[in-house]
Amino acid sequence: MRDNFPRAVPSLPKFSMLRRLCHGVGLTAALLAVQTFNTAIAAERFSYQIKSGDTLAKALNAAGMNGQQAYKVNQALAQHLDLKTIKPGQVVQVERNLEGVNDSSSFRVLLDLGFGGMAEATLVNDVTVSQFAQLVPQIRTVSVEFTVSGSVIDSAVEAGVSPEVILELSETLEAHVDFKRDFAGGEEISLRYEEAIYTYDGQRKRIPRAINAASVQTSKGLFEVNRIGEGSEQKLVISKNGKIVLSLLLPVHDARLSSAFGRRKHPVLAGWMMHKGVDFAANRGDAVFAVAGGKVTRAGREGGFGRVVRIEHAGGMETIYAHLSKISAGLKPGSRVRQGDKVGEVGRSGLATSTNLHFEIRNGKESLDPLKATTLRRLDNTPAVAAQE
Ligand SMILES: [Zn+2]
Repeated sequence: MRDNFPRAVPSLPKFSMLRRLCHGVGLTAALLAVQTFNTAIAAERFSYQIKSGDTLAKALNAAGMNGQQAYKVNQALAQHLDLKTIKPGQVVQVERNLEGVNDSSSFRVLLDLGFGGMAEATLVNDVTVSQFAQLVPQIRTVSVEFTVSGSVIDSAVEAGVSPEVILELSETLEAHVDFKRDFAGGEEISLRYEEAIYTYDGQRKRIPRAINAASVQTSKGLFEVNRIGEGSEQKLVISKNGKIVLSLLLPVHDARLSSAFGRRKHPVLAGWMMHKGVDFAANRGDAVFAVAGGKVTRAGREGGFGRVVRIEHAGGMETIYAHLSKISAGLKPGSRVRQGDKVGEVGRSGLATSTNLHFEIRNGKESLDPLKATTLRRLDNTPAVAAQE
């Protein structure tokens, strides 16, 4: 399993002392040994080990960045990390005069965060062009069973389950189960999901990932949720009393369902709005797959959707994949795609508050709930659902 980009970088207190930058720090002997300023065009690399009393700015100055440049890198990385927690022994690498960049003093800064984690910022023409921090989590599987007593969410939290997991479960089962009404108390719920544990500066943050399996007893019957298969073949299967009621090929794998279809409070615009699709919270760069074969009608930017791919299927059906960070090379209107083809990568372009895939299924102008079996039956190439509603 990979999780190179935390869904939310662990929230660590911001560093406010950064503004007090160190200027004019002399070069260390170690740096002098490898520095070659006379080769302005060739890329140069410096490695600096943080010493007691150092700030990142001091290290960057020592590596040949001026105060302004060091400040920009500091600001960029402070958005992701608490730079006050930098410790002696941590290594910062600075690459200067990046290849293929038309700027004789471009920089890439890499800061080792320990546990395999890394923070990076790139500066071109004194402007920060990219930045990110990546902590490598430990992954553990959580299996938990609890009995509903009072609200489902309170019972879950008491059992050590984070509220996001119950939110995902309720969004997944929304077409079938009303989490406010369909529990009288005494019902059993069991869950299996993975949790990423990020450790940074002695703090631990647990971030749940997609539910792999769930069994939910309700007054309407027993519902089971299972995620089966790998990669472009991953499916979300829901059954009621042992009979399959939904089998959706997922457009992005291992993603949490973060928002269901229907009337929702809009996260960006004020007020209530119709949410015409479902959202999958995933990592930037995760592959997005066509859930059925068809013809591409759009592969580019479109208003609030940001970078979007629209695919037309048989019978007037359409699928929409929005907020992408990237559209697969060569994909353009008229391109034919098969079920499972990668159409792009998850991002947050357009009107999105977080990194997620907004996925829609339409029949002409009408938006349909992707989590309803009736919708899927109408989608070309989607394996028929084995039954019953
Ligand atoms: Zn959405």
